[in-house]
Order: sequence, then structure tokens, then C-alpha cells
Amino acid sequence: MRYIDLRSDTVTMPTEEMRKAMAEAEVGDDVYQDDPTVNRLEKLAAEKVGKEAALFVPSGTFGNQLCVMTHTNRGDEIILGEDCHITLHEVGAAAVIAGVQLRTLPSKNGMLDPKQVEKAIRCEEDIHYPHTGLICVENAHGLGTVIPLDNLKEIKDIGERHNIPVHLDGARIFNAALALGVDAKDIAKYCDSIMFCLSKGLGAPVGSMVAGTREFIEKARKNRKLMGGGMRQAGILAAAGIIALEKMTERLIEDHRNAAYLADQLSRIPGVHVKDDRLDINMVFFEMDDEVIPEQKLVEHFRKNGIKISGIEEGEWRFVTNLNVSKEDIDYVIEKFKECL
Ligand SMILES: *Cc1c(COP(=O)(O)O)cnc(C)c1O
Repeated sequence: MRYIDLRSDTVTMPTEEMRKAMAEAEVGDDVYQDDPTVNRLEKLAAEKVGKEAALFVPSGTFGNQLCVMTHTNRGDEIILGEDCHITLHEVGAAAVIAGVQLRTLPSKNGMLDPKQVEKAIRCEEDIHYPHTGLICVENAHGLGTVIPLDNLKEIKDIGERHNIPVHLDGARIFNAALALGVDAKDIAKYCDSIMFCLSKGLGAPVGSMVAGTREFIEKARKNRKLMGGGMRQAGILAAAGIIALEKMTERLIEDHRNAAYLADQLSRIPGVHVKDDRLDINMVFFEMDDEVIPEQKLVEHFRKNGIKISGIEEGEWRFVTNLNVSKEDIDYVIEKFKECL
């Protein structure tokens, strides 16, 4: 049975073209840097975000944690948003892998206040203080927003003034670039390292990229091995990643349009309150008055009718559009939603 899956954009299936490229990929042992397809993907990825070099990693979480580990020493403090992915959704890995302490700051729909970032930096020498090792930002943000370039620039300038690197969690950087009307490079220039995902809206089955200076990537390559992420004939996966980067970045705009359409349709249902200040990418967040439909009833009604959604998280519903969700599918979702009322 085919499901319309609104749980995330990670559920996208690889395209036929990807499957074919994977089957035919030229491969080698990537730990020896002998895999021509991985090498090609890494070169392409670096170019796409305007960095010297890039590295293929198994997942976005892996890539973020690899960057945190490569930038910092144990016992360092890193500054980041209280609602970013590294803080909320990476199983506390920064404490386990890099051994760093998270100094979380409040955000406004994902955006950090540069003044607070600067204030949080431990600049004076004090025997009690940890060293500030890294600042992390996220764009597009998991709350469904994009962060404006001037905010990123201010934070990067602060990092430079204090000699602290900035890492960008750009899991959905191509969504952010489309929403801001800029090139991915124009966002990535405000960070020292970036992670972005191939396996979300871009449709590749597995994998993320880390990019930065050549020196940083060489250090990260060794740490990737330490973390168990040295993969062998990974060109089979990289082949899909190349197609993701060459052919799938521009089409993300369709997901944005479908999300806007879904948001508009949902907002017409009495008792549904769409978060319309967080509608920048392919995600729709909303609250629903308790008496409208109980949580489990909607989840089950949808499931019976071939639609997968997640339950409420922190009081909010989240529907995500993706490659495998069309405008007609959204009409069907709205029809089934109304049927459940
Ligand atoms: C999905 C996501 C990640 C992690 O990617 P995984 O491949 O699921 O580990 C990191 N940051 C953000 C903002 C994400 O949305």
C-alpha cells in the first residue's frame, strides 16, 4: 500500500535514476580514498557550499558531532540555541563523543541574539571557567524558519573577534537558500564548518556531508575513522548523493509551495491554529483546540486511509511535505481531515 507520509522529509524514497546510478557506481575502498564516486561527491559538495573540501558521513547527527569533536577539546563549552537539533535531538552525543558542555541560549523562532552569544563567550581567564570552543547555528531551523544572513554574519563576526569557530547545522541548507533567494554558498560563507543532509528532501537514501577548510576536513577524516564512520565501497551510496546535489536542490521549492498550500487549507478548519510565522520551508506546524479531534483519533483515521503523521510534540502537530507528496495528495489529506471532524 502506498502511504502519503507527512512525518518528515527523511521518508523520501530514492528516485529510479538514483537506484540505477547506485547499481552502476564505480567504487573502491574509501578509507584508502580510493572510491572515485565518493571523491566526486566530496568535490561537488565542497563546490556547492563554497568550501575547500568536504567529507561524506553516514548521517546528519554523525556530521554535526564530528564537527563538534573536531573543533573542540574535552571540557570545552559550546554556545548554541536551546531549541536546535544538536541540543534537542542528538541523544546528548556532544557530552559523550566530544565531551563538551552545552551552553544553550534562548532563540526567537530559531534565531540567536548576537549580543547574548557574545555575552556567553568566556573571554577572560578565570580558573573556574571552561574554554568556549565553538558556536553553533542552524539554518534552515527545525522550527520551520530560515535565519536571515545579517544575523549569521553578526555571529560569524563575533566568532572571528574572539577566535572561536562557527559551525552551521545546514541539514536543510538548500531549503534555506531557496527561501532566502540566495545561493547555498552565501549562507555557508558565515561558518567555518557546515553539515548538510543528502537524505532529507533531496531524496538520497543515506548520507550527509561535512565541509570546511582542507585542514579541517583532514582532521575530521581521522575523527570520522575514530567514530566508526570510515566506510568502504561507499560509492554505492555516494552515487545517489551526486544526483541529489545535481538534480534535486531546485525542486525543493515545490515542497515549499505544497507546504504553503497545506498551511492555507489547514488554517480554514475551525479550531486549527497554524504557526504562520514559521512557514519558510517544507514544514507546517499547528495547534488544534482539544475539542476538535483527539490526537489518537486523527492519527488512526489518517493511518486507516493511507496517511502517516506523527503525534503531537511539545503541544504542536508537524506536517512535512516532500518529494513523494503532491498537491493532489494534500487535497486528499484535507478531505480526510474534514471527514474526521
Ligand atoms: C535531520 C537533522 C539532523 C540530523 O540528521 P540525521 O541524518 O537524522 O542524523 C541534524 N540537524 C537538523 C536541523 C536536522 O533536521
